[in-house]
Parts: sequence; C-alpha cells; structure tokens
Amino acid sequence: MIKGLETKVVIVGGGPTGLYCAYLIKRFNPRVLVTVLESKTENQSSCCSGHVSIKGINELMLAPFIDIDKLTKNRVRGAYIFGPNGTLLQVRTKQFQTLVIDRQGFDKEIEKLAKNVGVEILYGHSVVGVDEDYVIVSVSGGDRHINIDYNYLIGADGPNSIVRESFPEKQDNPDFVSTYQLIANGDFKKDMVSMYFGEFANGFFAWVIPESATTAKVGIGTRLGNNPQKAMELFLQVSELKLSNTSFLCSGLIPISKPLDSYIYKNRLLVGDAGYFVKATSGGGLIFGLKSAEIAATTLTDRFKKFKNINNYSKNLKRSISELRLHYKIRKYIYSKTPYEFDELLKNLKDAGIEDFLNNFGNMDYPSKMAPPLVFYPKFLKFYKEILNLIKID
Ligand SMILES: Cc1cc2nc3c(=O)[nH]c(=O)nc-3n(C[C@H](O)[C@H](O)[C@H](O)COP(=O)(O)OP(=O)(O)OC[C@H]3O[C@@H](n4cnc5c(N)ncnc54)[C@H](O)[C@@H]3O)c2cc1C
Repeated sequence: MIKGLETKVVIVGGGPTGLYCAYLIKRFNPRVLVTVLESKTENQSSCCSGHVSIKGINELMLAPFIDIDKLTKNRVRGAYIFGPNGTLLQVRTKQFQTLVIDRQGFDKEIEKLAKNVGVEILYGHSVVGVDEDYVIVSVSGGDRHINIDYNYLIGADGPNSIVRESFPEKQDNPDFVSTYQLIANGDFKKDMVSMYFGEFANGFFAWVIPESATTAKVGIGTRLGNNPQKAMELFLQVSELKLSNTSFLCSGLIPISKPLDSYIYKNRLLVGDAGYFVKATSGGGLIFGLKSAEIAATTLTDRFKKFKNINNYSKNLKRSISELRLHYKIRKYIYSKTPYEFDELLKNLKDAGIEDFLNNFGNMDYPSKMAPPLVFYPKFLKFYKEILNLIKID
C-alpha cells in the first residue's frame, strides 16, 4: 500500500467499548490505521460498579484474551429486590451468576491488548467538532485546535456523545439517570447484591454491590434533574443499612433511553453508552456496549475485506436491540406504577412463584429468553393482561 493511502479509523473515547473496538479492528485488519482520541490524560475508568453477568463475559470474543479471574473481586449468586413498601423478592441460584470486577483493571487490560496490536491511543485529545471527514480536536495543554482525518469514525464517547450529536436525526426526550456512588464498610451478604426501589430514587433504584463481606459499593440513580447526592442521603436515612467509613466514589450519567432509530450515519458508527447500549432496567452497559463494539468491528472488517455495505451495522445489531427494547419496556412498565401498585405487583409475582422461576430461568441480559419457560408456570397466566400491556409499550 502506498503510504498516505491507508484507511483511517478514528475512535472517539477510550473507555472500554472504544478501546475494545479499536483492538478488534486493528487485530482483524492490521493494515488499517486505528487511532483512539481520549479526552482524559490517562486511562481512568468512568463511574461503574463493575457488576457483570458471567455468561455475558464468557460469550464475548474478549474472553480468551483476558484473565477475568484475576480481575474478579467477588462472585454473586443472586439478588435481593426490595419493593417500595418493603416486599422482598429473593433470587438465588446454586451457581454463581455474576462477577464484581475491578473496572479500572479491566479497562487497563483492554488498553494493553489494543496497544499490543498497534492501536494509537492519544490521551488528552478532546473532540470538539465532527465534520464530514475530519474531527476537530482540542489537545490538553495547548491552545490551538487540530484536525484529524478519518475514513470511518466511531463514537465511543459515552452518554454525552459528540459523535451521536453530529447525527442529523435526534431522539425525542432522551432519558438519563444521574447517579451517586459510595464505597463503604458494613456487614454484607457477600454473594448477593441488593436493589432498593422507593421514592428516594425517583425513577430508578439504589443498590448495594458487595466486593467482600465487609466492603460494598452503595449507589443510587435518580431521574435527571434530581440531586443524586440528596437522594443517597434520603436512602441512607430510610434504609436499615449500617455503614461505616463511607467515602464518595463517583457520580455519572446512565443512558436509559429507548433504543435509537439509527446507529450509523454515513461513515460514523456509535458503540457503547454513546449509542445507548445499556439495559434500561439495571443501568448495566458493559456487556451490551462491548457486544456493540464487536459488531461494529466485524461490520467494518466485512466492509474492508468483502466490500460489504457498512449500513449492515444496524442489521447486525438487531438481536441486541430487540433485547434492549425489552429492557426499556420493562423499565417503563415498572415506573408507570405507583409505589403501592409496584409493591402489590411484587407480592403477586412472589405468590405466583417468580422467585422459583427466576432461580431456574432468570436471564439478566436477555429477558426474551425467559418467555418460553413461562409455560411451565401456569400461575403466571393471570398476568397475561399485564404482559400484553408491557408488550404494547412504545
Ligand atoms: C454509577 C454507575 C455504575 C455502573 N455500574 C455498572 C455495572 O455494575 N455494570 C455494568 O455493566 N455497567 C455499569 N455502569 C455502566 C457502565 O459504566 C457503562 O456502560 C460503560 O462505562 C460504558 O463504556 P463506554 O466505553 O461506552 O463509555 P465510557 O466508559 O463513558 O467511556 C467514554 C470515554 O469517552 C471519553 N470522551 C467523552 N467525550 C469525549 C470527547 N469529546 N473526546 C474524546 N474523548 C471523549 C470519556 O472521557 C470516556 O473515557 C455503571 C454506570 C454508572 C454511572
């Protein structure tokens, strides 16, 4: 290839999805130039609890290349779900279902993989403008802007994505929650996470994710516009948690919007939080974000090697999107209830055997997989109207 005629892929955002996408594109296409532009001056993880499904991690192409055991702080078998008026659902399986990982360590491992295959990572480079075939970049410490050319641009720039903003079609009323997370000591059931629903967390919930029997991440999310720190104070006042040595860990946004209509515009693709690849039920974005990075990388590879249409990206995302749409519908359905109605629903589901059902067939990433086994639980028939209402949600 004549120098200067190489294909250039620029990725905005050096979080896990941007670095992973960069790594895969370069690994599959060594002759393509891949550059990651990251506004932070070093690899520092975004706010996260690091709670991921074991299945989700194992199904990624990343699994054989990363020592997940080394990054695992804790293994979890299930969850306590507390309704607004105290109804408790308990889901617990014999086998471990999820991991609590060291997010910073995880991101660093992906960075290492990307660097090893020859990805160029430019820290301290903030994209401030997106044009047809170049991005405008502000370099930290400098007072001038530079232009960086691209043939393909990938927006992996998180919830407030500038690449998504450059798409002509905008989503109506995008939905985000603001979060506030502490790390604290206490007496925790090591292999169980907890979710607390109530008015303290308007539009979301509070969580406890243990890293050990004595240390946990305690967080809360609340509808954008509310103060998440105040929500946390309120939660701690009403909850029975006894915490000590609490210290503030981080605050951040989680996109919980309806899936976008489009993930690609011309030669620009969105991955991770930038494309709202987040489960609206739980705010978990790692698995679907990394999956979107894989799909973007394989779509681009098909473009480079087989001259396939890059617009296939939307088609290739179909399975992920239909699951994310279901998460969105479940979330909307739950929050359409008053606290009393929601608690009653939990009680009725409990009476119908939801705990046993989830112990056997629960799937925190792919809720559609729980539909066929419902036939073994005839008691759920009485919820058919509720299920129809849920499906009809737009
Ligand atoms: C409190 C909290 C807890 C969470 N807990 C979990 C959890 O337990 N499990 C889970 O699966 N998910 C969790 N999430 C979600 C998860 O953290 C995200 O889904 C994940 O970080 C998305 O990765 P990403 O690479 O797409 O985006 P990010 O991690 O947000 O990375 C985007 C990167 O882009 C950079 N950037 C942004 N704009 C620009 C620009 N203009 N130019 C250059 N660089 C730019 C940012 O600096 C950042 O490094 C949590 C989120 C929050 C807020």
